[in-house]
Amino acid sequence: GTLTDSFTNAIKKIRFHDDAKALSKALTELKKNLLKADVNHKVVKELIQQVELKTKAAGIGKDQFLNALRETLNELLDVGGNKGFVFAPNPPTVILMTGLQGSGKTTTTGKLATYLKNKGKKVLIVAADLQRLAAVEQLRQITQQIEVELYEDEATKNPVDVVKSALEYANSKIFDVVLIDTAGRLAIDDELMQELENVKKAANPDEIFYVADSLTGQDAVRTATTFKEKIGIDGVILSKYDGDAKGGVALGLSSQVQVPLRFIGLGEKMEDLEVFLPERIVNRLMGFGDVEGLAEKVTNVIDEKQAKKLTKKIQKGKFNFNDFLEQMEQMKKMGSMSSIMGMIPGMGNMSKAIKDFDFENSGELKNIKAMVSSMTPKEREDPDLLNNSRKQRIAKGCGLDIVDINRMIKQFKNAGKMAKKFSGKNGMKQLQSMMG
Ligand code: GDP
Ligand code: MG
Repeated sequence: GTLTDSFTNAIKKIRFHDDAKALSKALTELKKNLLKADVNHKVVKELIQQVELKTKAAGIGKDQFLNALRETLNELLDVGGNKGFVFAPNPPTVILMTGLQGSGKTTTTGKLATYLKNKGKKVLIVAADLQRLAAVEQLRQITQQIEVELYEDEATKNPVDVVKSALEYANSKIFDVVLIDTAGRLAIDDELMQELENVKKAANPDEIFYVADSLTGQDAVRTATTFKEKIGIDGVILSKYDGDAKGGVALGLSSQVQVPLRFIGLGEKMEDLEVFLPERIVNRLMGFGDVEGLAEKVTNVIDEKQAKKLTKKIQKGKFNFNDFLEQMEQMKKMGSMSSIMGMIPGMGNMSKAIKDFDFENSGELKNIKAMVSSMTPKEREDPDLLNNSRKQRIAKGCGLDIVDINRMIKQFKNAGKMAKKFSGKNGMKQLQSMMG
């Protein structure tokens, strides 16, 4: 997003000839860009000062400047303490989800459960928001969708009772993680804090996460600070970052609240949650991408055995429509395309452009699915069977035009050829030379 742009733009403009004037220009450029991205002015001031000091200490030059920037960013984002998701020594790890109403607690609870489920963990979600009737129903829908167990108790209106019996249940069934979704209010008030305090006592959580809405800007920092003072929080999750055109809050939040930013929400889908690891984010901000994060995302969703089987099939030219659909499903699990693009070195700026491309609901994917569902099992296994009369039958069956059917089959065959080419010995080299 814009935050990445501010850094990469500032970096691009630096022309060092070992003089102090160049450094001052670079710093001014960086400052201007950071303020434009809505980074808190105190944070900007501190960052600029640090970069200047460190660059001067190392001797002025572009490399020294970049190193200073990298080091300062790391210090800014890494306020100590745990990173990513931390499992308690003895399961279940109990997490209390807190935040104001509408901040994204319930959605984020579902996303976190998805993230953990993809890591092979057994998760229980507890419905402890009993303020609003719709809240439990929302969790029912989410947990059904992601196939995670929900603990609810319609007999009581007291969240403390629900939490107590949920934990007894969790201990008897051996869950790895228990996520407790709590009630929020539109603003911080004593009643909300008292309820949370009671729930906290009953839950005795390993960690308390505060879900902050990035669209509220500096208010997110203020409310997080209040929750930290009144309840005590171990991490912040910044939600709706996808809708934040400026994005600067993420940079100052950890140091301003003095609590680590742990995850970032990047969309409404259950897959749109990313773990926030300072070193990786710094790489991304400086335009170097996040290769590690990308690799993790891919291995999270792709079964290794299955991947090997598929590679063999591709090499033999036996990739069929069933494999094709399976691939589509796996792509879906990786989350939004924009979050993936942001991780590829040099592609950070592209991510905004393709943000609105909704893979799951794209017309083309729907058409492909419709076409494949009108094929016989044999046709799905062997695309070469598809002669004209079969194509006509399929077109009728799925209600698409024969022109579309021909186009999609051609695309499929081309994709197979490309995949075969790139899965060979020199495949990666060819791909790289193609991408420039
Ligand atoms: P709660 O009241 O704190 O439980 O908030 P909800 O989880 O019900 O979320 C409120 C709204 O924000 C819902 O419409 C969510 O879909 C939306 N939302 C939550 N997280 C994100 C996010 O990361 N990106 C976007 N675009 N929307 C989000
Ligand atoms: Mg909720």
